[in-house]
Amino acid sequence: MLAMGFPLIYRQGEGAFDSLGELTAMFGSNPLVVADQFVREMLGDRTVQVLAAVGRRPVFAPFDGECSPEAIDRASAEARSAQCDVIVGMGGGKVLDAAKGVKLQCGLPVVIVPTIASNDSPTSRLIITYSAAGEFIGPRFMTTNPDAILVDTGIIARAPVRFLVAGIGDALVTKFEADQCRDSGVENFFGGRPTEAALCLADHCYRLVREYGEKAVADAAATRVTPDLEKVVEACVLLSGLGFEGCGVAAAHAVGMAIPQLSEIKGVLHGEEVAVGLLTQLVLEGRDDAFMQDILAFYEAVGLPSTLQQLGLAVVTDAHLKAIADFAARPQSRIHNMAMPIDAKRLKDALGRANAMATAFRER
Ligand SMILES: [Zn+2]
Repeated sequence: MLAMGFPLIYRQGEGAFDSLGELTAMFGSNPLVVADQFVREMLGDRTVQVLAAVGRRPVFAPFDGECSPEAIDRASAEARSAQCDVIVGMGGGKVLDAAKGVKLQCGLPVVIVPTIASNDSPTSRLIITYSAAGEFIGPRFMTTNPDAILVDTGIIARAPVRFLVAGIGDALVTKFEADQCRDSGVENFFGGRPTEAALCLADHCYRLVREYGEKAVADAAATRVTPDLEKVVEACVLLSGLGFEGCGVAAAHAVGMAIPQLSEIKGVLHGEEVAVGLLTQLVLEGRDDAFMQDILAFYEAVGLPSTLQQLGLAVVTDAHLKAIADFAARPQSRIHNMAMPIDAKRLKDALGRANAMATAFRER
C-alpha cells in the first residue's frame, strides 16, 4: 500500500503573519499561543493585534526551552483550564513540537508558525521529546499533520542565517534518503510505501536547494526577501517535510543523529549533522569522485559543514569513527532503510572515507 500525509493549509510569504488571525479563526475561537520568552517579546504584540482584528484574544502558554512531557502537560492543562479550542505554536522546532504535543493530548487543531527555517519538522506529525534536562527521550506521533502552517518569509529572513543554512542541509538529504527507501522497499512514516507525489516532492526539493540555495543564503544574510529565498524556504519547510515523511529517512539521518553521541560535539543544528551524515551515505552508495567534488563545492558555497572537525572535533580518531558507526548501526537504526546491507564495520569505513574526502576538499 502507498501512504502519505499532508497539512490542511500551507501559507508562505513576506507579511504572511498578518493573516494569522483569519487563519486561526478558521479552526477555533479561543486560541492558546505556545511561545518562548524570546518569540513572545518579538511577536507577542503583533499576535494580539492580528487576533484582535478578528475578535479573538490569545491565552499565552509559557515555554521553557525543552519539549518535555512536563512542558506538554503544562501547556495542555492551560488549554483545558482556559477552554481553548485551537493551538498556535510559534518559534523554533522545540516549541513547535510542544504545540503539536498539545494537539495530540487535547485533540485540538494546531496552527504552526515557524520563525526559523532550520529543519523540515514544521509540516510533519513527528514530535521529538526530551527530558527537562535536555536528554533525548524519543518521538511521538500526531494522528495527522498540523492543520495549518504559516511561514512569514520576512521573519525567516531576519533570523541568523545559520538557521537557513541548516534547513538547506536537512532539505538536501531528503531526495537521497527517499531514493534509498524506495529501492529498499521499507515503510515510510505513514506505514506505507512512498507515493509518486512524495518522491516527486523530494526530487524537486533537491533541485530547488541546489539551484537557488546559494542565492537564498546571500539574500537572507542581507535580510532581503526574494523569489529565490521563497523557493528555498518552501523547499526547506514544505517539500522536505512532505518528502521525508512520505518516503522515509536512511543513512544521512542515522549517521548525522549519531554524531552528537560524542561528548566533544555540542550545539550542532539538526540540518548540519545530517548534511555531514549525507556524505557517508553517498560513499555507501558508491558515488564517484566527480559527484562528491560537486556536492562538496555546494556545501562550501552555502556554508554547510562537511567534516566532523567543523562540528567540533579537534582531531578525528579511529575511536570517534567507531563510536558514531556503532551507534548508527544499531538494529533499530534507520541506517537499515538503505538499499544495501550495512554493518558497523562497513559504516565506519564509509564515515572515515567521507570525512577524509571532505577534509581534503577543504584543504585543497
Ligand atoms: Zn531531518
